[in-house]
Formats: sequence, structure tokens, C-alpha cells
Amino acid sequence: MLRRPLAGLAAAALGRAPSDGMSGPRPIVLSGPSGAGKSTLLKMLLREHSGLFGFSVSHTTRTPRPGEENGREYHFVTREAMQRDIAAGDFIEHAEFSGNLYGTSKAAVQAVQALNRICVLDVDLQGVRSIKKTDLRPICISVQPPSLDVLEQRLRQRDTETEESLAKRLAAARADMESSREPGLFDLVIINDRLDEAYRLLKEALSEEIKKAQETNLLS
Ligand code: ADP
Ligand code: 5GP
Repeated sequence: MLRRPLAGLAAAALGRAPSDGMSGPRPIVLSGPSGAGKSTLLKMLLREHSGLFGFSVSHTTRTPRPGEENGREYHFVTREAMQRDIAAGDFIEHAEFSGNLYGTSKAAVQAVQALNRICVLDVDLQGVRSIKKTDLRPICISVQPPSLDVLEQRLRQRDTETEESLAKRLAAARADMESSREPGLFDLVIINDRLDEAYRLLKEALSEEIKKAQETNLLS
């Protein structure tokens, strides 16, 4: 019998009870301070296992960075449009971060599910708390920098922030680093010091889900 590994995920995204959500691969939530290295690790994972994982493309009201494409990193929208869609019930979760709205739409998760891939979400702490209350049963992984100083260096080198947004992100990072130690919130905390080692730990944490997904034979 063919098992639909992400049936539970789709049902949850639609607000229905999952039918066999206990058996399929679980969605992955990556969180952690801005600049900790989530996107870098995600890109490595999606490149190595392009047929296995799919990124849930969030909506945001922030402006695109150089190199970002609408519909790839984010759906870049106005606050008015996003608030309207949130009110219409189109979002699984949403949060205000550093002066902008961010959110995961039901359609974003469904798009990954339609491809029979393991859904990977990159959300802030508020998003983690919201998603943990749904039927999605995610594996929650926090990516942390070795220190606040290293984080600041990385954000400055990335050269995407103004002094004002940098200060906001560093303030949020302090709270994030504290919360990552909260018992039961994360299944795993990865300190992204050396990138290759952090990536190895990420893949090790996901090995069960990768195996399950490969065994279904629906994923490649
Ligand atoms: P996030 O998605 O968490 O905001 P990024 O993946 O954009 O963070 O990483 C922030 C910056 O730090 C990027 O310029 C990235 O190239 C760099 N970076 C990521 N991981 C490491 C690492 N282990 N060592 C050094 N620089 C890193
Ligand atoms: P950035 O502007 O650096 O891309 O993202 C800023 C923060 O927003 C990061 O912590 C990131 O994880 C978070 N984020 C991105 N998309 C979402 C989302 O859909 N929901 C929530 N709650 N946070 C998000």
C-alpha cells in the first residue's frame, strides 16, 4: 500500500485532524537569531536533498535583499495585503519581527506537500510556539551562533542591515539565545560555529526522517 507521508501535514494545514500523521516524516522547523546561519544551512540541505525537502515560502512585509526573489525566499507583500489575508484565515501562523510582519500561509505548506516533500520552515520564536500548538508535530531545531559578538560580525559581514535594523535584530537575538534553553521548546540546539560541523549535526538530527521518506518510495 502506498503511504502518503505528508497526509498529516496537509490535513493540519487545512485545519483537519491528521489521518496517518503519526507515521510519515515530520516537518522541520528551523529557528534561531537572525544571522545565526539558518538560511545557509537550509540551502545546503535543499541542495543535497532537493527531491526530499521543500521550503515553505513565507510571506513578509520587509523589503527584498539583493539577490532575493519574490516567491523563492519569501512572498514579498504589503502590510495591508498580508493583514487582509491573515483576517481571511489564510495563515497557519504570523508574527511581528523587527518591525515587519512574517507568516506561514496554508498554501505555502500545501505547495510542499503537493510535491511529496518534507516541509522545512524557517520561523522566529513566536512562530515556533504557534506551530507547536498545531497538528504539524514538527521537529524543532534552534540554530545558535557561538556568541552575540560573532553574530554581530556575521550580520555586519552579510551587509543586509541598517544600523537601526541591526540593533533590533541583536536585541531579539539576546532573547532568542535565552529561550533556546527553555526545556521542551526545541528538540535540538545546534551551535553554528564551524559550518561543516553544524551541517553534519543537522543531517544527523534529520536522519530518521530522511530514512522514512526514502522508504516510502514516493520521495527520491
Ligand atoms: P540567518 O538565515 O540565520 O539569518 P544566514 O544564513 O544569512 O543567517 O547567515 C548570516 C551570515 O553568516 C551569512 O553571511 C553567512 O554566509 C554567514 N555564516 C553562516 N554560517 C557561518 C559559519 N558557520 N561561519 C561563518 N559565517 C557563517
Ligand atoms: P529575515 O528578515 O532575516 O529573513 O527573517 C527575520 C526573522 O523572521 C527570522 O528569525 C526568521 O526565522 C523569521 N521568519 C521568517 N519567516 C517567518 C514566518 O513565516 N513566520 C515567523 N513567525 N517568522 C518568520
